[in-house]
Amino acid sequence: MVTGRFAPTPSGRLHLGNILCAMLAYLSARSQGGRFLLRIEDLDVPRCPRALAEQALADLRWLGFTWDEEPVYQSQQGEIYQRYLKKLEERGLVYPCFCTRAELHACAAPNLGDTQYVYSGRCAHLSPQEAAEKARTRRPAMRLRVPDEEVAFEDGLFGHQQENLARDCGDFVLRRSDGLFGYQLAVVVDDALSGVTEVVRGADQLDSTPRQL
Ligand code: GLU
Repeated sequence: MVTGRFAPTPSGRLHLGNILCAMLAYLSARSQGGRFLLRIEDLDVPRCPRALAEQALADLRWLGFTWDEEPVYQSQQGEIYQRYLKKLEERGLVYPCFCTRAELHACAAPNLGDTQYVYSGRCAHLSPQEAAEKARTRRPAMRLRVPDEEVAFEDGLFGHQQENLARDCGDFVLRRSDGLFGYQLAVVVDDALSGVTEVVRGADQLDSTPRQL
């Protein structure tokens, strides 16, 4: 069955962009006789207080939205994300990264701005001994080893999309060094476990899709 979802990050009150996105996702799923789910993306707990999530749900109810299951709160899913991170680790797809922020930016591509960079893969080939040695003084982030191949998909609005993650993104973070799980891991686990079949969301997430695939 078609299952759509709306997944706001409650770091402020819902804005018009959120409402537009919720409406499109809702109408698409419901017009196909499908289910509609809500997920509160409050991974960054200090920036997403519970009161704002409650307010978002109240606003959506006031607008007339209905959803078919209790909303999932990402802040409560930590054990589940850990379990899936471990599965990736067991398959050798994840490695610890000890780079500091300064080191990451020193090798960043200049055109990508301050917050985006293509990771150089500096920690990808540490031996287990080297990693254990570094772990004594610094808690690592965990990165996914991305494949050096084109990932392609069809977007309903923007059409055919494709990206080579090794070239355009690099190995990305699934768990930060402070223990917070990355959005990219959480979304994939949650969408899969909830049986989501279609994702309607802001164009700013277009380049997340190849990573999540
Ligand atoms: N939480 C994201 C946002 O509020 C949306 C992520 C998604 O729909 O996958 O922008």
